[in-house]
Amino acid sequence: CGIVGVIGLEDAAGALLEGLARLEYRGYDSAGVAVLNDDGIIHRRRATGKLAALREKMAAGPLEGDRGIGHTRWATHGRPSEENAHPHFGQGVAVVHNGIIENFATLRRELIEKGETFQSDTDTEVIAKWIGHDIAAGKDPKTSFADAVSRLQGAYALAVMVEADPDHLYFARRGSPLAIGRTEEAMFIGSDSQALAPFTRYVTYLADGDWGWIDRGRMTVFGADGAPVQREEKISSASA
Ligand code: GLU
Repeated sequence: CGIVGVIGLEDAAGALLEGLARLEYRGYDSAGVAVLNDDGIIHRRRATGKLAALREKMAAGPLEGDRGIGHTRWATHGRPSEENAHPHFGQGVAVVHNGIIENFATLRRELIEKGETFQSDTDTEVIAKWIGHDIAAGKDPKTSFADAVSRLQGAYALAVMVEADPDHLYFARRGSPLAIGRTEEAMFIGSDSQALAPFTRYVTYLADGDWGWIDRGRMTVFGADGAPVQREEKISSASA
C-alpha cells in the first residue's frame, strides 16, 4: 500500500512506476496509475499482482502526460481485482487512497440517492464520486476537494487529480503518512521518502490532518483546522 504523484515531469507514467517500485517493500495485491494527458482527459491502467503486470499493460497502452498519480493496494474493502484497484474515478476525477474510510457506507448511500453509480466494492470510490459529483454540479474544484475531505472519517492518505483543475494535484493525510517532494521543475507526492528518492531529496513531511495542493513549483498546505500552515522542508537521507 503506497501512493505516488507527480506534476511537471515529461514522462509522468514512467516516474510513477519508478516510485511505486520503491514502495513494493510494503506489500500489495494490485497496482494502478492515472495520467492526465494534454487532451485534458484522465486515462488509467490497473492490474492485479506484481508491478510487472501493470508495466506490461502500460507498455501495450502507453499513457502520455506530465502529471499523474499511482497506487499499490492492500485490499481492505473489496477483493483484490482490477475493478477494485486504484485509481478510482468520479466524473473527471481520479483518486488513490491508503487507509480505511469508516463512514463510506453512509457517503455511498447519500451518493446513490443523488444518482451516482459505483463500479467497485471499495471504501475509496466514494471519495472520487463525491468530488466528481460536486464539480459536475458547478462547485469549485478546490472547495469540492476540501468539502469531501471534511466528510471523511477514518484513516487516509490521498492523492487526487481533477480534469477541471489540471494544474494542481490535491493531497490529504490523516492517520496514514504522506510527504511532498520538490525539484526545480516538478513536484511529487509520496507515501514516504523512499517513494520520492529516485527524484529528489527535498522532502516535506506532512503533519496529521494536513491537506492542500501542489502545482509545478509550489505547495499550499492547510492544517486540520483549515488554516494555512508552513511545513519545514528536510533533506532526506533515502538513497536514490
Ligand atoms: N481501503 C482501500 C481499499 O481497500 C485502500 C487500501 C490500501 O490502503 O491500499 O481499496
